[in-house]
Amino acid sequence: MFSEFLIKYAEIAIKGKNRPLFEEALVKQIRRVLKRVDGSFHVYRTQGRVHVRGEDGFDYNGCMEALQRIFGITAICPVLTLEDEGFEALKDRLVAYAGEIHPGELSFKVHARRARKNYPLESMEINAKIGEALLHAYPGYHVDVHEPEVTFNIEIREKIYVYSLSFPGAGGMPVGTGGKAMLLLSGGIDSPVAGYMIAKRGVSLNAVYFHAPPYTSERARKKVEDLAGIVSRYAGEIFLHVVNFTEIQKYIYEKCPHDELTIIMRRYMMRIAERIALEQDMLALVTGESIGQVASQTMQSLKVTNEVCEELPVFRPLIGFDKQDIVELSKEIGAFETSILPYEDCCTIWVAKHPVTKPSAKVIRRHEEFLKEDIDEMVRRAVEERDVVKIDRA
Ligand code: ATP
Ligand code: MG
Repeated sequence: MFSEFLIKYAEIAIKGKNRPLFEEALVKQIRRVLKRVDGSFHVYRTQGRVHVRGEDGFDYNGCMEALQRIFGITAICPVLTLEDEGFEALKDRLVAYAGEIHPGELSFKVHARRARKNYPLESMEINAKIGEALLHAYPGYHVDVHEPEVTFNIEIREKIYVYSLSFPGAGGMPVGTGGKAMLLLSGGIDSPVAGYMIAKRGVSLNAVYFHAPPYTSERARKKVEDLAGIVSRYAGEIFLHVVNFTEIQKYIYEKCPHDELTIIMRRYMMRIAERIALEQDMLALVTGESIGQVASQTMQSLKVTNEVCEELPVFRPLIGFDKQDIVELSKEIGAFETSILPYEDCCTIWVAKHPVTKPSAKVIRRHEEFLKEDIDEMVRRAVEERDVVKIDRA
């Protein structure tokens, strides 16, 4: 029955001159996800509205599922498109439509709008006459103009558009309206969720993964690529920078106290991530850290990790989340099953039995001095020889 969708978005956020930018980004994301859905689609804007029209035989469910993943959309309304064949015909079509889509008992109102003022009836008359016809046809219907369960929207333009169903959108802002950030993406549960949350604010993502071959396997890397793929279903294409961290990790292991290994390693991850991010004009780093989750995420550890970032802010959208809440979000976005696959992470290989939980910045800085002979060169090499993979799995 439906071949058209009206895409609703939160207008409050986009007053004035931001609106075209917002709508363009939205249309771009819609086109991107629909490329993977069976059928051909026409995405277009009219009078401050975004519409999607599917050609005959398109995959309705696939289309709806794809649209529900796009940030910036608050609701998706399937629309019945009618030719103007006179008011009597419209009334009959509406009665038939209501019976099919909304059977049973309900409260309703009719809300007509004329974008074409030469239509012979005024909005109020349309409301009254169609309301009357619906009441007459369906004994279970009653009118409630204040809080109706169903609103029959009728828009009279060149054609006539009728919609009463509304499916929730993903909310947020269209990716591409908020600049670019670098996600530190590991194979765990948290970082994909953190990336999802930042992308939801309209930010496009790159990701960086530190691996340590041969101590971490190809399968572990593949898992991170898969996670980047899952995030990209929402966040759009992601350039994944795969950095070989083996040499640096070994060097730290050789030179520094073992209970400080994790924290020093994390400082080098941040430094490298920031370096690549700045090179590519990104505006922030993003991690999946949350206060107190592990030794490297105590307040003291976070402070010591944070201080190495010289220019860019570090966003930690999960900072106040309990693990259970993160797990739930992870399941919701479809990442959990992949995140819990048991492949080793480069951080877990050399972790000390009793890592410091309250590192002192002064002490850590002093111990990093032990690395001064080779570390700059190693960092330079790691950055330069990184692998960059484009990931896009709408
Ligand atoms: P996650 O579930 O995201 O792996 P975690 O609970 O295992 O997090 P840590 O291992 O301490 O916590 O990592 C904290 C954050 O540091 C991660 O959320 C991620 O942003 C980043 N990170 C950790 N390991 C790596 C890695 N190998 N490559 C890139 N980023 C990493
Ligand atoms: Mg981890």
